[in-house]
Amino acid sequence: MAFTHTLRRRLARATGLALTLAAVPQVAQAAPLDPVAARAAIDAQLAKIYPSLDALYKDLHQHPEVGFQETRTAALLAARMRALGFTVTEHVGQTGIVAVYRNGDGPVVLVRTELDALPLEEKTGLPYASHAQQTIDGKLTPTDHACGHDSHMAWWVGTAQTLLALKDKWHGTLVFIGQPAEEKAGGAKAMLADGLFTRFPKPDYAFAAHVGPDVAGHVTVKQGAVSSASDSVIVTFHGQGAHGSMPDKSIDPIVMGAHFVDDVQTVISRQKDPQKFGVITVGAFNAGFVPNIIPDTAVLKLTLRSYDPDVRKLLLDGVGITARAVASMARAPEPGVDHTEATASVVNDPALAGQLAGILKTALGENQVALVPAMMPGGTASEDYSEYVNAGVSKSVFFGVGGSDPAMLARLKAEGKPVPVNHSPFFAPQPEPTIRAGVETLTLAVLGVAGN
Ligand SMILES: [Zn+2]
Ligand SMILES: [Zn+2]
Repeated sequence: MAFTHTLRRRLARATGLALTLAAVPQVAQAAPLDPVAARAAIDAQLAKIYPSLDALYKDLHQHPEVGFQETRTAALLAARMRALGFTVTEHVGQTGIVAVYRNGDGPVVLVRTELDALPLEEKTGLPYASHAQQTIDGKLTPTDHACGHDSHMAWWVGTAQTLLALKDKWHGTLVFIGQPAEEKAGGAKAMLADGLFTRFPKPDYAFAAHVGPDVAGHVTVKQGAVSSASDSVIVTFHGQGAHGSMPDKSIDPIVMGAHFVDDVQTVISRQKDPQKFGVITVGAFNAGFVPNIIPDTAVLKLTLRSYDPDVRKLLLDGVGITARAVASMARAPEPGVDHTEATASVVNDPALAGQLAGILKTALGENQVALVPAMMPGGTASEDYSEYVNAGVSKSVFFGVGGSDPAMLARLKAEGKPVPVNHSPFFAPQPEPTIRAGVETLTLAVLGVAGN
């Protein structure tokens, strides 16, 4: 997913809102953390371990594996965590891993990384670019860590290693999870269904971070909604096939689909409150093979995005109503409307986000960290990390970490060209500042809730 860039732009437009943040209640803490000293300790550790994290990152980058096929990736991380002294359980939710480390009485803190990559051909031209392929749905397909989950795995291992080196500075239990299949949504659900919160200590706090196209090393902390709800719907129009020269003998599903693609946008433009976020995109429209045959079905695949539960319902209902109305106009049978995937919005605890943003600003620098208030909209991408929050871990923060080379951003801006974002074959976070910022952010977050 990608969100930091949008959030920072929106925040920049709303700098006046910063004053309201002082009113956010602070989370009670046993002993105040010294963020500057903590950062110095983390960086001293990073100076020792960064070369091994860089090597891990480049290895993962060159061996990307798609959802529920992350066997090499999971084995690699499991071995690393075992070597650190974690108790590791593999095959949780198919290819997921859970690594637990107990360090006395204290809170249980979950830190999550994703394991999966995308079915995409990398075009960055980097010396460590992926040339890997995997069999997906029976077809050999190029794979690429174009969402940056390889950065996440490197900073996840780095955070674990740093916390163990600093274990006299905190107490509690770490539950580090490597989650499969974030991209096709299903990995978080699979881990929860396989007993993540019953077979292992249930977290009091949960953290994750995502790399985005913002300046490398910049951290964004959002209060409230971070990502959108995402729903996938498949609409199948059932027509009647006929010769292309005899349309009167057919019920043309392509014409129904064309009407639908157009009309369904009025749910957004005429039915939804324009102040509220909502998107309906038809991402696939499959019907027919040749010019002279009217096919008998058309299958359309849609993604719906929203923050507000009422908007979410309006969009889902609107898709069904529009599809049935279009079919009715064509005197066609009732269309199929299948809600195939649903992911709720990721919501950060506002007080915890405010508290941790304060720690991060002191530790990393005021200009390195942006706190985005709850009243600002989140990003339009989606994340199944919401499953953990909705399963009861409300004390949670999902951070954004920038990955783009500032010189590249300046050049693209001067040339008026778009910045490669997550899921672009050109997306190429700078490893070192990105991974360092991820380790610093997640380690400080854990120390912020479990520090002595
Ligand atoms: Zn993604
Ligand atoms: Zn992602």
